[in-house]
Amino acid sequence: MHEWGHAMHTVLAKRRNPYETASYATFTAEIASITNEVLLQEHLLAQDLADRERLFYLGTALEAIRGTFFRQVMFAEFELAVHERVERGEALSGEKLNAMYEELVRRYHGSDAGVLAFDPTYAVEWAFVPHFYTNFYVFQYATSIAGGTMFAARFLAGDEGARRDYLAVLEAGGSRYAYELLREHGIDLASDAPYDALIARMDRVMDEIEAILDRTAVP
Ligand SMILES: [Zn+2]
Repeated sequence: MHEWGHAMHTVLAKRRNPYETASYATFTAEIASITNEVLLQEHLLAQDLADRERLFYLGTALEAIRGTFFRQVMFAEFELAVHERVERGEALSGEKLNAMYEELVRRYHGSDAGVLAFDPTYAVEWAFVPHFYTNFYVFQYATSIAGGTMFAARFLAGDEGARRDYLAVLEAGGSRYAYELLREHGIDLASDAPYDALIARMDRVMDEIEAILDRTAVP
């Protein structure tokens, strides 16, 4: 479903653009794939499901948000902190990077509040995340995910203009500056709304999981 979104985006962008502007930016690259994912998840969750099956779909949705957004935002915060240190003229070492990364992982996962135990091995995780070797990739990835979730929310809410805006964004390919393109089609990624909506979705999925676990003996 995810890759099918990329395929659709590429077909539409190539059909409407000359070769030079057919390739789209990372900023919009995950929109079709994530819109597809969210629509499929919501379609499945709308079915009459046994608790175990519902938990599986909810768990899959939560893991998708964690991996594509929550974790990427944490990565982006790490990149920002690294760049700020360099801008202040401070030297970086493997140990310093480990300490900075550990602080973020602990904070994002509530380790000090006892939510998730922190395994010290993870302090060095930054070293094998390939995204850090591509400029600003994680920041663009997380914003793209937020845009896709916002489009899905508009479809699900029955927004009449959603289809037109969605297709216009995909068909534009790389012919426009991506931020402005999205803003003109109802999604302003410099505003809080797309991120608030995504965090609200993450909270809702977790609440549903907890509600099922509270009333059943499902392990
Ligand atoms: Zn993708």
